[in-house]
Amino acid sequence: MKISRAAISLIITLVLSFGAQARRDIRVRIYSDRTFKSVQLVIFSGNYEMSDSSGTVQKAWNKNDTLTIKPVNNELVVFSSADTLFMGKFIRLQSKGFLNIFQVLLPDPKRLYDDNILISLREDGTLWLINEVELEHYVAGVVQAEAGIAKNIEFFKVQAVAVRTFTLRNIEKHAAEGYQLCDQTHCQVYKGRCGNTDIMLATSKTAGEIMVDTSGQPIMAVFHSNSGGQTANSEDVWGKAIYYLRSVNDPYSIGQNSYSWQKTMPRTEWLEYLRKNYEYPINIPSEVKQVTSFQQAARRAYLVDNISLRKVREDLKLRSTFFNISEQDDQIVFSGKGFGHGVGMSQEGAMNMARQGFNYIDILKFYYLGIEITTLDQISPTE
Ligand SMILES: [Zn+2]
Repeated sequence: MKISRAAISLIITLVLSFGAQARRDIRVRIYSDRTFKSVQLVIFSGNYEMSDSSGTVQKAWNKNDTLTIKPVNNELVVFSSADTLFMGKFIRLQSKGFLNIFQVLLPDPKRLYDDNILISLREDGTLWLINEVELEHYVAGVVQAEAGIAKNIEFFKVQAVAVRTFTLRNIEKHAAEGYQLCDQTHCQVYKGRCGNTDIMLATSKTAGEIMVDTSGQPIMAVFHSNSGGQTANSEDVWGKAIYYLRSVNDPYSIGQNSYSWQKTMPRTEWLEYLRKNYEYPINIPSEVKQVTSFQQAARRAYLVDNISLRKVREDLKLRSTFFNISEQDDQIVFSGKGFGHGVGMSQEGAMNMARQGFNYIDILKFYYLGIEITTLDQISPTE
């Protein structure tokens, strides 16, 4: 691996700034959407010690060593160019060098991961891969997987704090299965190490920072693509009022990429949908008028009576609940604003604010009301 001068100085910066915070590792199950019975790894950078389930170190691996690991007679066996090692049902590859990176060749695609890997053999003969990764490495990886297209360090800081907050709040999500988070949308999408220097910098500049509520707990840092100019109250989407997830007027989302949308459907189909699902009286003209000329200047939760906009959005696969309805010939036109559930932070609004020069703390406090930003060392000091 060739490392440029800029990258070396960045790495030094990262080591120094992460050093100010205690090191925290988290266990993330990787390739958790796949089933596989063998894995191939390459030591991409650094040095690793391999131990078995008893904790006994069996071998050290160095850069470019390639390992194929698969079960033989219900035991994990490691094949390399020089050795065949019988390891039992569990293998730990513990990083020992300075910049420790391993590459997973199988199962495809080839991805790079930081820090340690744990491999276990399941009852059904398949393998689980758990990346035991330093929290800040993980945060940078998730920011890249979820927001990698933007090119604004302040926006990446916003994302890094949100991702770190989500991570801490959901750290018990897979406790029963022996790890902490999976690498899919169920938790947060994570496709290995971050290779973007802007994201690495934004992560290191905010190292350890999370958003907390008045009781000091990590907040529910939910976000969506675009609020349509007004965010939604949490209870209108999930039924539960949370004080920091209040509707705010959001001029920063207006005019951004996903600001507006339109969808049409036959008038008869729309009325039939309402009759079938809600016994809506589609033979009464005044009632029909209400659902064919619906307007919401500010966000509303219901179309009429008991018909929630959230349910209509789900059923008709609309981009948001923030829409007006009009008629055109025999068609119904939904003219909507925003993209997503609308609760918490609008990503496009936050990106716009960052471009306009707001700092990440102002942006987070604009979308999450009354929250505080603290560091992990303050809420859970390590020994
Ligand atoms: Zn999960």
